[in-house]
Amino acid sequence: MIDYHIHIGQFRDHYYDSLEVFSAIEEFAEKIHISRIYYSSTSSCRSDVSLEKIEEEIAYAQSLISEKITQLPYLWWTTNYVEQNISIKSAMESFDYCGIKLHPLAHNWDLTDSKHIESLCQIFQWSSDNNKPILLHSGDSYIENPLRFEKYYKEFPNAKVILAHCVLTDNIIFLFDNYPNIYGDTACVDHNHIQTLMNSKYKHRILFGTDFPITHYWAHHLHGEHISLQEQYKRDCQILSKAGLYSDCSREEI
Ligand SMILES: [Zn+2]
Repeated sequence: MIDYHIHIGQFRDHYYDSLEVFSAIEEFAEKIHISRIYYSSTSSCRSDVSLEKIEEEIAYAQSLISEKITQLPYLWWTTNYVEQNISIKSAMESFDYCGIKLHPLAHNWDLTDSKHIESLCQIFQWSSDNNKPILLHSGDSYIENPLRFEKYYKEFPNAKVILAHCVLTDNIIFLFDNYPNIYGDTACVDHNHIQTLMNSKYKHRILFGTDFPITHYWAHHLHGEHISLQEQYKRDCQILSKAGLYSDCSREEI
């Protein structure tokens, strides 16, 4: 089983070193048969982010070898890189990336800006050519609404898109009905909503994801709860077990 949504790096005022993140996961993962994790670096949200710095973090994370889990990075593509005219094709050659992460809210993707449009076309083309997913942050606000990107789902029907934080709204139902390569992940989704997803006809499109250790940041650094990283990962996974859904989300690869 894969956890499609893990982070490392700087998140607000805290730095999550990949060694501590991966070790915490490893301790519990075996029990629930998680053998692979897909991660991205939240350092990508720093305003002074450089691709070189992110690549250094990934190189370090990839140097950590575990007998229990395999970790693969997403490259979190930002509008800063777009402004710097960095080529997606050459950037994607640096590592064995599992996919590309996009966050329309954090990086203010402007779908009327010609440079942003060109970059999105390259991202969807890369996904299509390499059969690897785009992890697209989604939410309720206008800017996070995954319907905004419909033009790209249409234009690149072979690109795979995972809508992060998927809740079964009318918009998501519309997208699932019309675009077979759209999936959703369970990261930070309330277990009642997960239950609704898994009881629906779309259950085969739902992927296991936790958003760990951001979950730990909220619990520990924001709400002052004394919880270790290990305990938090266990808790994140148990949301699915509570809904009895491990087996349903246990596909290896989309
Ligand atoms: Zn996330």
